[in-house]
Amino acid sequence: MTEKSYDILICGAGMTGAGLASVLALQGLRIALFEAHKPKAFDLSQAFDLRISALSPQTRAVMQRTAAWDNLQAMRACPYRRMRVWELQGFGDLTFDAGQVGAAELGHIVENRVTQAALWQVLESQANVSLLCPQKPVKTYRKDGIMHVETQTGECFTGKLLVAADGGQSMVRQQFGIGVNRSQYEQACLVASVATQLGQQDITWQRFTPTGPQAFLPLPGQHGSVVWYNQADEVRRLSALSNEQLGEQIMQQFPAQLGDIKVVDKGYFHLQKQHAQQYVEDGLVLIGDAAHMINPLAGQGVNLGFQDIACLDEVISQAIDQGKDWWRADQLREYQQRRRLANRLMMETMDAFYHGFSNDQSAIKWLRNGALALARLGPVKRQVIRYAMGMQDVTAPLAKVFTR
Ligand SMILES: Cc1cc2nc3c(=O)[nH]c(=O)nc-3n(C[C@H](O)[C@H](O)[C@H](O)COP(=O)(O)OP(=O)(O)OC[C@H]3O[C@@H](n4cnc5c(N)ncnc54)[C@H](O)[C@@H]3O)c2cc1C
Repeated sequence: MTEKSYDILICGAGMTGAGLASVLALQGLRIALFEAHKPKAFDLSQAFDLRISALSPQTRAVMQRTAAWDNLQAMRACPYRRMRVWELQGFGDLTFDAGQVGAAELGHIVENRVTQAALWQVLESQANVSLLCPQKPVKTYRKDGIMHVETQTGECFTGKLLVAADGGQSMVRQQFGIGVNRSQYEQACLVASVATQLGQQDITWQRFTPTGPQAFLPLPGQHGSVVWYNQADEVRRLSALSNEQLGEQIMQQFPAQLGDIKVVDKGYFHLQKQHAQQYVEDGLVLIGDAAHMINPLAGQGVNLGFQDIACLDEVISQAIDQGKDWWRADQLREYQQRRRLANRLMMETMDAFYHGFSNDQSAIKWLRNGALALARLGPVKRQVIRYAMGMQDVTAPLAKVFTR
């Protein structure tokens, strides 16, 4: 079998695999990127996709290193300036405003496939990137210190570094025997794409109820996404309703801020938390959902993936500048130390929200109200906004302690 040789082999060209390839290509590295599923071409007349993400300014900054952000804006994205969080029972009610930290917006709500398409447009123009799709790796291994990928079509590719960007069920991670810590939440989440009677909004909101959070994310024009967390059985029941019946249920159960809505599409997701026990080995690195999956409560999943990208790009670039073997575990370990800690911290923060707000014990209520009162103070609020926007790395001091 003839082997095609590259510097880097990336398995999975979703948002994080494509994002990583686009920035590593700027370092002149030769990259092969494998994607099993060909995404549908984007067209403005298409209905909004159910899978959307709130992209943080830090994610935008990574995409702005190439034309990806301009490409994305040429398709469709909805900036949001404010974020409101409140409780149905209790007195917690907080509104975060980008103006409080001198920013124009807190983030953008974007369909996942638009983000992916914007990155693919960049990859197609990068001469040192081979975007191979549909192409499904079936066997990945290390032989004589070289990483190998064999595909369904019987071809073999080699590289110094293999990147697992193939999502939560990562085949690469499993083939290298890297274990995960995993837990399933009791709640599931219903997502409905809706047409709104109200005009385009610049606020996302989330209301915490004893049965789970309810949220609204604005999309361009009179569109939005409604997210409804509840016990898995109830979410299944709701998702089996017709669009009209579900629309009525949402109007009855959701806050008046939603206005009149019409359900266009719907789906539901199980919630799980999963963390790989290691991110690196010699010639191997895990990024994005292949490394970590978190509760989507605060919409941070893909943003963590883009922070992985920024960190890995920096670590590889430093090693290349110093003439080191950038694909070796001793060079990649800094990436693991920085990102594993930061991702873990975000997972724990989401768990604190999840358990803290689904709990009616008086001690927890007292703690929750105390935390919300604290968060209302100007300096604390600004720190929370910076953290949510990715402007503040709260793990930097911790990482110093842990890497000593
Ligand atoms: C309900 C819900 C809401 C969410 N909301 C948000 C949000 O608001 N903000 C946010 O930041 N995140 C959100 N997330 C999380 C976010 O969707 C994920 O973190 C993100 O999609 C991960 O991107 P990824 O590229 O790492 O993995 P994936 O999106 O899973 O992409 C993996 C890619 O690899 C390909 N692949 C898999 N196996 C192979 C193989 N063997 N060969 C070739 N290709 C392969 C797949 O086809 C896919 O294209 C949400 C998640 C859920 C469930």
